Amino acid sequence: MSNLKKSLSKSHFDTWFRNIDFVNTQNQGKKLVISVPSSFNKNYIEKKFKTDLLEAASKYYPNVIHIDFEIHEVEATPTLNQDEVFPIQNDIVDIENQIAKVKNQEVLLKPYEKMQKNLHNLNSKYTFENFVTTKSNELAVSVAKAVIANPGKRYNPVFLYSGVGLGKTHLLQAIGHSILSTHPGMRIRYTTCETFFNLFINGIQNKKSTEFADYYRDIDVLLIDDIQFIRGKEATQEAFFHTFNELHQNNKQIIITSDKPPKQLEGLEERLISRFEWGIVVDISKPELEDKISVLKDKVERLQLPLSLEQITQIASGVNTNFRDLEGVLNRIEARIKLLPNAPLESYELNKILAGFHKSAPINIIVPEQLSSSVIIEATCKFFDVTKEDILGKSRTSHLVLARQIAMYLCKTDLELSFPVLAKIFVKDHTTILHAYNQISKKIGENPAVAQKVEVIKKSYR
Ligand code: ADP
Ligand code: MG
Repeated sequence: MSNLKKSLSKSHFDTWFRNIDFVNTQNQGKKLVISVPSSFNKNYIEKKFKTDLLEAASKYYPNVIHIDFEIHEVEATPTLNQDEVFPIQNDIVDIENQIAKVKNQEVLLKPYEKMQKNLHNLNSKYTFENFVTTKSNELAVSVAKAVIANPGKRYNPVFLYSGVGLGKTHLLQAIGHSILSTHPGMRIRYTTCETFFNLFINGIQNKKSTEFADYYRDIDVLLIDDIQFIRGKEATQEAFFHTFNELHQNNKQIIITSDKPPKQLEGLEERLISRFEWGIVVDISKPELEDKISVLKDKVERLQLPLSLEQITQIASGVNTNFRDLEGVLNRIEARIKLLPNAPLESYELNKILAGFHKSAPINIIVPEQLSSSVIIEATCKFFDVTKEDILGKSRTSHLVLARQIAMYLCKTDLELSFPVLAKIFVKDHTTILHAYNQISKKIGENPAVAQKVEVIKKSYR
């Protein structure tokens, strides 16, 4: 020990020991595992300092008789030529500090502790309750049920793939919820591959590789979404490979989703591809019309939208991509229905919404196209059984006056035209229109019979 202290300069100590990390002890504390940033680093420490390390470590781990080295996936230290390191300088360094620091690793655990609290990361909106089984996903669902009954035993891993928006994430998380309720003690972790990657990089940068490893290994079920993200990321693939092996060897359930089957994932290591094929590979195919209809029906019921089967079929036939787009269209339809609740949704409006969705047009609340003063006048005539000439004429019979005034009122409120413009349409003075508007506004408040007439006429042209 003292030799080590005396013989290392501060800078050389930094070079060789700054980036080493305690990993764990194994074999009832007989073996100490230390993680180092590179194989060069490992060889050097092993050759020059192993005995000293062992001696220092034995103060804290009395049973230790052996030290093993693990290499982190990334070269964290600049590679030095061995000749540059020697001769060893005589600054005093304290290897004990290094060991004591890693012994205190609880302190380092904090960020992971925080994540630990929300162990499963599942989103409550993705459950089986609102997942519709269709022909396109029934195979995937039956595999899911088998896994839920016996996690880690039946199919492991499950590799689920499909194009976007076809329900992979939903199904994956539904499996998680279901395992949680059928096997309450099980520790489940849902993660996107992107999060896995971010935590892995973060682990290296902040020397938290152990915590990273534990975060993904200390569980019973790993649900990893969008594995295609790992393509071309070699170090992350390596980390995932170890995580996979550890879990699989211990019969922990692994479920993976992807946008392609394993063999078509270019940029993925062969050994991962072959592992992904160990269990079962299952896909969700593109939905047929009837699949889209049943998913849509379920969503329409949940949202309590007044849509007929015919309309549902029209929507389903209008969306040829995936369930996510079907939901997007349904959101627009819902917005239209809520904004104009009294106007039934017309077929041409549905077509417009569908066409607008495909062009990614912003949401477009459709006011019935043909609405104009003549439509309103015509509707009023029909209701009162009078003619357009009667409305535009000068007769003062009370029946005609009411009809004329309501027509003027509706043109004002529904077309938002100015009084002078309305005066031209009705061939009257603009004060006459203003008077009519005030009269009807007042009567609507005072006289339910008039209010009802106005409503009925409105409904007839909207
Ligand atoms: P992916 O992960 O395959 O891209 P998602 O799971 O995100 O697809 O699904 C897209 C949307 O479609 C989600 O809102 C999901 O709830 C819905 N969805 C997909 N499949 C179904 C289904 N079978 N039943 C009900 N909703 C579904
Ligand atoms: Mg997804």
